[in-house]
Amino acid sequence: MLTSKPELLIPAGNLEKLKTALLYGADAVYVGLAGLSLRAAKAEMSLADLELGLNLAYQKGVKVYVALNAFMTNTDLDSLTELIPRLNALGVDGVIVADPGVLSLLQQLAPQLSVHLSTQANITNLAAVRFWQHQGVKRVVLARELSLKEMGAITSKVNEVEFEIFVHGAMCMAYSGRCFLSEYLTDRSSNRGDCSQPCRFEYLLYDKKGQAEPLLLTGDERYNYLLSSKDLCMIAYLPQILAAGVTSLKVEGRIKSAYYVALVTKIYREALDLALSDPEKYQCKPEWLEELQKLAHRGYTTGFYLKKEPLAKVNEMQTEFKKIQTHELVGKVLAYDPADSQILVEVRNRLQVGDQVEILLPEKNLFLDTHQMVNQAGEPLLVAHNTYQVKFPVAREIPEGAILRKKISG
Ligand code: SF4
Repeated sequence: MLTSKPELLIPAGNLEKLKTALLYGADAVYVGLAGLSLRAAKAEMSLADLELGLNLAYQKGVKVYVALNAFMTNTDLDSLTELIPRLNALGVDGVIVADPGVLSLLQQLAPQLSVHLSTQANITNLAAVRFWQHQGVKRVVLARELSLKEMGAITSKVNEVEFEIFVHGAMCMAYSGRCFLSEYLTDRSSNRGDCSQPCRFEYLLYDKKGQAEPLLLTGDERYNYLLSSKDLCMIAYLPQILAAGVTSLKVEGRIKSAYYVALVTKIYREALDLALSDPEKYQCKPEWLEELQKLAHRGYTTGFYLKKEPLAKVNEMQTEFKKIQTHELVGKVLAYDPADSQILVEVRNRLQVGDQVEILLPEKNLFLDTHQMVNQAGEPLLVAHNTYQVKFPVAREIPEGAILRKKISG
């Protein structure tokens, strides 16, 4: 295994989220380009935005990887052939692929670009890693179906390859995300970045032999999310992940909000720094878990990483809890004016006097008094809607791009 410094790798679905990841402490970000990455439909970046993002990232020493991990068809090849030299000229730090055809094109057109093998390639054993290493792959995202013990058995025997795994975020119930449910039900292909997520719907299971009542796995009718997996959360096990030879800790969620990016980056940044400085004494802080509960999620699980036997269980299916959400994004700081100690905020969603609003900061969060909300002319406002620009007095300087969240329940 390579011994590069472990990195926190954050999803950047657009330029705003890339900037958010930089503000809250990412070591690296991954982005998608229109039509050529999974999640492309809702989380795509133009080449112009990518160039801007690269400049900002490099100023902070943050790496940028580009996902080209859709399974391509012949019709994609022309645009790929045009795109690859441009990515090379921009100087991206790596390209994430799943399709051997994309790897082949990369090697022909930009052999110096570092290639990362996507989790979609489903790498579960040492021989597969060696195979892809011989094809020129520099980093492998190991399949999330492996345990940390199985990962360690691979990483300890391979040199010149970096290993990455997902540590946080949504999971598919299908094996390494190979799923036709969305395409079958809604004609939208998950393998082309356009999953409509029908596994998240509520389903009832009927016995065809004539039983009139549905079979309720939970024993009652409250929740029947039979196909929806809990979300992954490995924050309590970062030293074990590092000990397994993993050097890139990846967060899922290119289609998630800037609030999600801000909070996950902030919390995992603090946790990873602690795990790196003193792995022996590392303990997951209760406040980290409390904060992660404030993201929209479906309950948390450690997935397969801690399992004792391979595939001892097929995921922890979500049969008890539907999506949980206590807080939501309500704004972003556009500017801080030191002359009057006010911040200018662009509102997202709806913000009204009396809402419990916090500014997420890389260090300690700050509560806002929403009774002091004014418009740009300085007039008091009771309600601000999406895209409004409003001002608040604050007791300290606030960085541009800081995210505001609002409590909505709980
Ligand atoms: S339908 Fe669900 S399991 Fe299938 S690809 Fe989409 S998110 Fe994954």
